[in-house]
Amino acid sequence: MHTKHYLTFILLVSLLNINFMAQQKFGIVIHGGAGNILPEHFTPEKEKEYHQTLQQALDTGYKILENNGTAIDAIIAAIKILEDSPLFNAGKGSVFNNQGKVEMDASIMDGKTLKAGAVAGVQRIKNPIEAAYLVMTKSPHVLIIGKGAENFWTSNGLPLVDSSYFYDTKQYEQWKKSQKPQKHGTVGAVALDKQGNLAAGTSTGGMMNKLPGRVGDSPIIGAGTYAHHSTCAISCTGYGEYFIRYAAAHTVHLKMLYQNKSLQQAVNEVLFDELLPVGGTGGMIGIDKNGNITMDFNTTGMYRGYKLSDGSQGTFLFKK
Ligand code: ASP
Repeated sequence: MHTKHYLTFILLVSLLNINFMAQQKFGIVIHGGAGNILPEHFTPEKEKEYHQTLQQALDTGYKILENNGTAIDAIIAAIKILEDSPLFNAGKGSVFNNQGKVEMDASIMDGKTLKAGAVAGVQRIKNPIEAAYLVMTKSPHVLIIGKGAENFWTSNGLPLVDSSYFYDTKQYEQWKKSQKPQKHGTVGAVALDKQGNLAAGTSTGGMMNKLPGRVGDSPIIGAGTYAHHSTCAISCTGYGEYFIRYAAAHTVHLKMLYQNKSLQQAVNEVLFDELLPVGGTGGMIGIDKNGNITMDFNTTGMYRGYKLSDGSQGTFLFKK
């Protein structure tokens, strides 16, 4: 009799355990920049292209999470797809500075260990997010810039690409027409993996026509990117100078930690109460440790998408 009860007890405990494990949510959220993104700017074909590339990035990142991969690996894979696309201002699609050159910034943060890596002003690294990861994993530093970052990259046996790789005719024509810093954009991803770990990453070509050497918020940990196991993972896009001044991504973490705000509320307050009144246009994506997500922006649109373990997913360009 006792044995029978004991066995029933063991069975119940293991069922509860399995149930608990099955409930560990995971998922990925991405963005491809916020700005003046309106339906009238798109042909149906162009719009489809954006959706397809966002979906491809989501599917790639999600698959890694589904196969027990880490949040870090998932966001790198997703961001690389966006960097390789000419549609977004990062990697291949990076805008030019006022000298007609690309200078790219990227960062990554692991919410579990709070380790972070970043590069700024790199000109010949095909996927700056990989360089940020290299800084995080293979150097004692958090941020390495310009030629130093490229030398660090090559000293690890990795190849540089010719600067012609980043030369896109359409981009160049746009640059020639534009007189002041305006066009921007960025790509980013945040994820929660099956182990419950969070990660965030951001990569950008920065602001079009920026001064050579200008660094935005994207490679600044706490401004454009932040991840902390006790709260959430955040990636920002927008007018970088404001996101730096308001330590935008880290402020979301603080609001959640000390004011018990939800992810959505914290992001909304930073975007609309702090940034918007001073001209800090842009958006943020986030995922919290429980798998809640947000994709919020104070502009007309933001390229964005999510894919979660509860089966929900979507890609969007405009306000819904
Ligand atoms: N935040 C980026 C920067 O200031 C640009 C953007 O996301 O639109 O460099």
